[in-house]
Amino acid sequence: MDRFYPDKQKEKNLPKDRHLVWFFDIAVIGGGPAGMMAAGRAAELGAKVVLIEKNETLGKKLLITGKGRCNFTHNEFDIRKLAEKFGRNGRFLYSALSVFGAREVIDFFESRGVKGKVEQGDRIFPEKGNAQDILNVLIKYLTEEKVNILLNSEITGVKQKKGKISQVLLRDRKISADKFIICAGGKAYPQTGSTGDGYRWAEQLGHTVIPPVPALNPLKTSEGWVKELQGLSLKNVSLKLFQNGKKKDERFGEMLFTHFGVSGPIVMDMSKNIGELLKDGPVKLILDLKPALDFKKLDKRIQRDLQKFKGRIFKNSLKGLLPLSMIPVIIKLSGIESNKQVDHLTREERNKLIHLLKELELTPTGLLGFKWSVVTSGGVVHREVDSNTMCSKKIKNIYFAGEIVSVNFSGVVRRKNIVY
Ligand SMILES: Cc1cc2nc3c(=O)[nH]c(=O)nc-3n(C[C@H](O)[C@H](O)[C@H](O)COP(=O)(O)OP(=O)(O)OC[C@H]3O[C@@H](n4cnc5c(N)ncnc54)[C@H](O)[C@@H]3O)c2cc1C
Repeated sequence: MDRFYPDKQKEKNLPKDRHLVWFFDIAVIGGGPAGMMAAGRAAELGAKVVLIEKNETLGKKLLITGKGRCNFTHNEFDIRKLAEKFGRNGRFLYSALSVFGAREVIDFFESRGVKGKVEQGDRIFPEKGNAQDILNVLIKYLTEEKVNILLNSEITGVKQKKGKISQVLLRDRKISADKFIICAGGKAYPQTGSTGDGYRWAEQLGHTVIPPVPALNPLKTSEGWVKELQGLSLKNVSLKLFQNGKKKDERFGEMLFTHFGVSGPIVMDMSKNIGELLKDGPVKLILDLKPALDFKKLDKRIQRDLQKFKGRIFKNSLKGLLPLSMIPVIIKLSGIESNKQVDHLTREERNKLIHLLKELELTPTGLLGFKWSVVTSGGVVHREVDSNTMCSKKIKNIYFAGEIVSVNFSGVVRRKNIVY
């Protein structure tokens, strides 16, 4: 069997006979991080492996992770604690993490020349802050282990025979293998190739698929003024979520204004909750721009600032309190005359300002959907996958890895009489 690599010239020379069947020990479907690691490791252990990717390149999504910097692992070496971060289903990962946890991930990349750097929230990024470095290591790994890589190759279906997958079908060829590892990802950010194809095959093969929903999703809000703050990132703020006057969630950290609403880590973390609550009725977000100061302390701080800017106009007195782009918005919302001399500000006006800084209201109207979602919640039910081997409990020769598995799902689904 010829080996072929991501080399346009070599691709051109491949036989185009649509009835041709190529045989491998293992076929890995999907060239994202899960597929690349699975293919590389299988080849390292001696298997003849093909990695099949529909895009023209591998790791298209990986390159946009962590804003192009790729938060590739977490600074947590206790397997249980790391698994807990995945929520209720984290236990499913014990076995995998005990073989290849955060320490092993760091060693894997470090031994190949990419050191990790711990950042806020114990997230680990490549030292030089470039997701491409991570992708380069993975591609080099595949090449060194002589994994056959098929690019521009969309799997259009799977063929089943005697309780096993016998072939996967491409437009112009068929691939036969003893084992298939399905790493086709979820449905989030479909523009990167993750269009949920794997769910369809899994269902065809008798697996239960928890209906995928967007998780870690930006929010649309009804306030028109958010557009004026587009691109503004706020650090160390607190965000509270309310429905019918009851607090439902609270986060502290970083958020971002966009042209349609809000995004950033704390918003994304709340988005799944918000999506669920919106089904029952309206919700409110209360943004505290100064969580370290209570109302009294903030009042004192503002009075000090006003004293400092005595004789100047109001709009020029807020530079120490707010990011520049936020000043006109807060002034407009406060209704205070922007050219008013600070000395003439009334107590009532000061209170209005404090209220805006501590309790700025945002009204979520919906999530942005899969197109801009960071991950998918739901997918192939993890209980139908052996957590030691990732082998399907239903079909003997298929394995799942990566986002396609429902580990991130934390709800209750009743489907086919099974309660998850
Ligand atoms: C904006 C953004 C930022 C993120 N940041 C981070 C981060 O910093 N850290 C982190 O850990 N995670 C991050 N994630 C999540 C992370 O990218 C995914 O969880 C991860 O890529 C999942 O890997 P995967 O290999 O399972 O699937 P994917 O990366 O989705 O790869 C699946 C591959 O399968 C291919 N495929 C699908 N269908 C077919 C088919 N029919 N035939 C052939 N090929 C097919 C797709 O083209 C794709 O290349 C981020 C995601 C987004 C969208």
